[in-house]
Amino acid sequence: MENTLPPVQTGNRHFPAFWQRPVSGRSAPPKRIRNKLICIAVLFGISALIMAVGLKTTTSVLYNGTLVGVVESKEIADEAVAKAEAKASEILGKEYSVSSGITYRKGIAATNLSSEDLTSAILDKLDSIQRLHVLTVNGKIIGGAENRKDVENLLVSILEKNLSATSMSAKFHENTQIVQMFVPKGSVPDLTEMKKALTTKREDGTYLLNVETVEEVEYISPVAYPTQYVQDNTMLEGESSTLTPGTNGEAIVTEKMTMLDGNKVNSEIKNTKILSNPSPAIIAVGTVPRSRSKGYYNWPIRGLLTSGFGYRNIGMGGSFHYGIDIGVSRGASICAADGGTVIYSGFYSDYGYMIEIRHDNGDVTRYAHNTKNLVSAGDKVAQGDVIATAGDTGLADGVHLHFELVKSGVRVDPYPYLK
Ligand SMILES: [Zn+2]
Repeated sequence: MENTLPPVQTGNRHFPAFWQRPVSGRSAPPKRIRNKLICIAVLFGISALIMAVGLKTTTSVLYNGTLVGVVESKEIADEAVAKAEAKASEILGKEYSVSSGITYRKGIAATNLSSEDLTSAILDKLDSIQRLHVLTVNGKIIGGAENRKDVENLLVSILEKNLSATSMSAKFHENTQIVQMFVPKGSVPDLTEMKKALTTKREDGTYLLNVETVEEVEYISPVAYPTQYVQDNTMLEGESSTLTPGTNGEAIVTEKMTMLDGNKVNSEIKNTKILSNPSPAIIAVGTVPRSRSKGYYNWPIRGLLTSGFGYRNIGMGGSFHYGIDIGVSRGASICAADGGTVIYSGFYSDYGYMIEIRHDNGDVTRYAHNTKNLVSAGDKVAQGDVIATAGDTGLADGVHLHFELVKSGVRVDPYPYLK
């Protein structure tokens, strides 16, 4: 555009588009045309100046006579005013006229606001509305202050109150945000009220805001000793004895803990430095099967010997008695005379309910007339284990245990073998 500016003085080197060179050679333009050219030149000069320093024709917006802001056009201003009115009505919950207080002025200015900025600037001017930095806890408004720093300082003071000498960091457990917003004037608790709400215990004993701290502590902790087991073939299975007692070691433990409201909610051992090693306990454990025969026989039940081994007379005839009878009360416990393997458990003719146990030396002991057998064929039993309850099943004259000892397939008098 500068190239098309008409010359003011000489006027014959450049020409505006609408001006034509006179046919009669090089001469100054007539005076009427010349004045017009000067006038145009001034106008163009102003445009050029505006372009050069970034000034534009603008619309100034005033609220109740006070300048609120400057925008590029009246359309933008109208849009911003309409938005401010809608927003104010929404905030206040009722129809609120903004446009009635608005006036416009045409002009030239260096700064232009966006439509959004103008809307905010208008809202700032309204008496019923205030712009606050509002604190929300889990989305709920707690209070607000004009100065964001005031809200931040309040939060920091609460955090600091929860710090201890071992605190590494602190943060709020609840979702806490400071949001700038327009609210109806006086509708939101102020800084003092907010502080009271945050630092006073509620009825249920909890606080509105809870501080989570991460603590790092060091302490001495015992290091548990390990236990070593050695087999001992002189003791029964299940038996044990301590050969060497263990001693604990010591370590310095560094623990990182997350505390909430004074309670440990998470913990992580960051480092363990051994000061002294533990020494192991050594324990001997028996390997001898419990069912292993000891090589001698205990009385299977305590009672009166009512019939010995050998010939006896019953009524008219005589018979040989291949065992001994021990008179007991019904249901009394019958025990294995020595350890071994149960080879028979069941009902067997005149013997009634009967049990046979084979011992390690090949001997078999036999227990008859039982009320109930408590073990099954194949079971391993130890000397003294209860295997049956006494009774009178089979051919029996009264409740008693009929006990036999079979050596190499021959029934012998068990009496001399019993201890
Ligand atoms: Zn008998």
